[in-house]
Amino acid sequence: MNRRYRHTKIIFTIGPASESDEMLEKLITEGVDVCRINMAHANHEWTKSTIQRIRAISKKLGREISVMMDVKGPEIRTCPMDEPIHLTQGDRVDLSTEANAFSRDEAGHVILGVNYPSLIDDIPVGNMIQVDNGLLNFEVLRKTESRIECMVVVGGELGSRRHINLPGVKINLPAITEKDRGDIKVGMEAGVDQYALSFVREATDIDILREYMVSIGATGKIVAKIEDQSAITNLDEIIQAADSLMVARGDLGIECPYEELPIIQRRAVKQCLRMGKGVIVATHMLESMIENPVPTRAEVTDISNAVYEQADCIMLSGETTIGKFPLECVKVFNRIALRIEASGGAGFAEGRVLKGPKTMMLRSAKILAEELGDTPILVFTRTGRLGEILSSLRCQVPVYAFTDRRNILRHLVTLWGIEPFMMDFDADPEQTIKDAFDRLLERGWVKKGQTLVVITNALAHGRVIDTLQLRYVD
Ligand code: PEP
Repeated sequence: MNRRYRHTKIIFTIGPASESDEMLEKLITEGVDVCRINMAHANHEWTKSTIQRIRAISKKLGREISVMMDVKGPEIRTCPMDEPIHLTQGDRVDLSTEANAFSRDEAGHVILGVNYPSLIDDIPVGNMIQVDNGLLNFEVLRKTESRIECMVVVGGELGSRRHINLPGVKINLPAITEKDRGDIKVGMEAGVDQYALSFVREATDIDILREYMVSIGATGKIVAKIEDQSAITNLDEIIQAADSLMVARGDLGIECPYEELPIIQRRAVKQCLRMGKGVIVATHMLESMIENPVPTRAEVTDISNAVYEQADCIMLSGETTIGKFPLECVKVFNRIALRIEASGGAGFAEGRVLKGPKTMMLRSAKILAEELGDTPILVFTRTGRLGEILSSLRCQVPVYAFTDRRNILRHLVTLWGIEPFMMDFDADPEQTIKDAFDRLLERGWVKKGQTLVVITNALAHGRVIDTLQLRYVD
């Protein structure tokens, strides 16, 4: 299987529209790089069997992808309900501290349980409560001992276990819940590669997750999902603590004024690139394609912006979980990414500060390869670190990264501009280079006679030294 070289990586969220073997095969062939499992909807058995199937299909196709488990963190939700109800503007709705309460009182007011009893202490009278991604709005009128009396300001249909947002309200929920802990244990057993933590508010939320992962022996990278105003206030510390960041625009656009969203996105991408961390732009990228086979012009422009900003990954959610056109969405991402990448980038990585001679040697490799033109970089990496640094420099040439470790391969596949390969390293560095050339030739990524900038170890009178070499494929 060979694809055109694409710098920007594609994440799809798995669900009913994409979970079949046939569709997974098509999506991986089309070039998705990461599969996201949203634990708001996935159960443990399904998670384990799905990951097994992804691994088997990847093996058959000869292309590994990364699996991201999205754990929900401190989410507030309405109670479970058998049937949706309709709420009209002006209706009274009382939120109850009893999580599963759902009834009507004598006056006919709807009583809805919420899974966070302290909501009553945290929310001031007069505040707005946004339900189901802001589709419904309630205003807090009064509070009693066990109920928050609200008026429906924007009505609509309310389904079971809908997500609640409280813009500007600081809530006192723990960074990771008991459910998250159980999910992460299952993720560890199933071989998840990265964990995305929802509603990260400060750097210590990441530290808590990392400590928990260490305590149970879970490895894997941590993605901080920024979804509210506290995360924006603490952005730099969160980026520092996490391995990468997800600009989760769905919740962000409710928790913050939506006109701030493009500014927040740009700031977050820029800061991640400066600090050498990964960054994902997520949500509503092809929302109209849940129903339609072609994107709106506004969606094309939105995707182009994320690609131009040089975010590592762009992400599909509902488009591939419940949408009618999952494969077409990936094709649209591919087409836009390839075109926009060829037109240049925002250059945010130019502010990247590098320390240490080996890191600086990588910058020299980038400059050399770009100036030569049509010259890919070949790098060998056991820890993935050299791949991470080259990716962070946003090289305008392909970077082929060879590793001998599968977990590193699945990390490298998530990084901007890195095309990873799995291969055993020979004791003789010269043989390793030859094996890599053979693999690149066989897969059609390079041609005979082509120049490559190679970063590798070499033996000099028995000593291993770092080298940057100009080589020709023979
Ligand atoms: C978002 O809000 O943009 C997001 C990705 O979060 P969720 O997991 O709730 O879809």
